[in-house]
Amino acid sequence: MSDLVIRNIGTIAGGAVDAPIVAGDTIVVRDGLISSVGDEASADGSDISAVVDAAGATVMPGLCDNHTHPVLGDFTPRQVQVDFIDSYLHGGVTTMLSAGEPHTPGRPTDPAGVKALAILARKAFANLRPSGVKVHAGAVLLEDGLTEADFEEMAAAGVTLVGEIGISGVKDPDVAAEMTRWAQACGMKVMIHTGGASIPGSGIIGAEFVVKVRPDVAGHTNGGPTALPISDVERILEETDARVEIVHNGNVKAAGEVAALVDRRGELDRLVVGTDSPAGSGVQPLGMLRTVSWIASLGGVDPAQAIAAATGNVAALHGLNVGVVEVGREADLLVVDAPLGSQAADALGALAIGDTLAVASAIIDGRPRFTKSRNTPPATRPIAFSI
Ligand SMILES: [Zn+2]
Repeated sequence: MSDLVIRNIGTIAGGAVDAPIVAGDTIVVRDGLISSVGDEASADGSDISAVVDAAGATVMPGLCDNHTHPVLGDFTPRQVQVDFIDSYLHGGVTTMLSAGEPHTPGRPTDPAGVKALAILARKAFANLRPSGVKVHAGAVLLEDGLTEADFEEMAAAGVTLVGEIGISGVKDPDVAAEMTRWAQACGMKVMIHTGGASIPGSGIIGAEFVVKVRPDVAGHTNGGPTALPISDVERILEETDARVEIVHNGNVKAAGEVAALVDRRGELDRLVVGTDSPAGSGVQPLGMLRTVSWIASLGGVDPAQAIAAATGNVAALHGLNVGVVEVGREADLLVVDAPLGSQAADALGALAIGDTLAVASAIIDGRPRFTKSRNTPPATRPIAFSI
């Protein structure tokens, strides 16, 4: 846990959808937590030697990828790639949520097996933070035969997630609904795959199924990768309380349409963002940054609110103490800017025109993990580090 001062900030995009810009030019971190946000004159960080001079750039919360498919460790068998989580960190991702571990080689499909896998993935990532990234894994995939007692046992072992319904054995909406009630009674968050089939074995799921099951998240409503009709997304918003998710590995045009729909309805607090990766579409280190840019540029959503959908909204959904720039939160922060050569003057302007942000640093628990992303373009401003 580190102490850090970030000074000379141009804009703080704070990650809260109802107050997306936070006043101030200085953030002080003590013991890995944000201890003050405001003007430099009133900041309490004069004794702290680690300083980032943001040179007028933007600070925002670290991105929270609501839809990942990890296995165990920093390796994905789907694309046979190691260190993919480290690559995502260089795309600004500091928290990842699992939507299931279907890529596990030889994944068991009996109740004892899926239960064991969820508990193992949960506990293994609780002991392992690849490159500092906080991975919340162990999302049980529903299979016939799971009982209410199984969900209670998993919850007692720390499992908080049900992986996307529709990519595993349970295809009957009545069975899925019953298991969803058991899981939610234990405090778990439940996601449903929506849209067309993603890979052989997955199903086609529309609004009718979602309305019956009432999950916490309607996954990848812009397609994973094939999108629902927009009228189905509207029905989900109308008839359920579920969050609607937009992902990178979906339909790009639908991403803009769903974002615009949610914005028009005044329900941006229900919008969450993920990559849906690793997957058949690949490993996507900049997937979160690109999706935020689509939501702002194609969906016409205020750029700072688009950032909130990918940070504070995801943290709120899962009850995590990250994702918002406010005193007491874990200091998982990004220093971002318009990429060098952008027609925009700053980070929010770059999102509005569809550019991918430059990430100068990703900070986790107050500690800068790098001082120049190896994956994004360089920043326009001369951001300086004394750390
Ligand atoms: Zn899916």
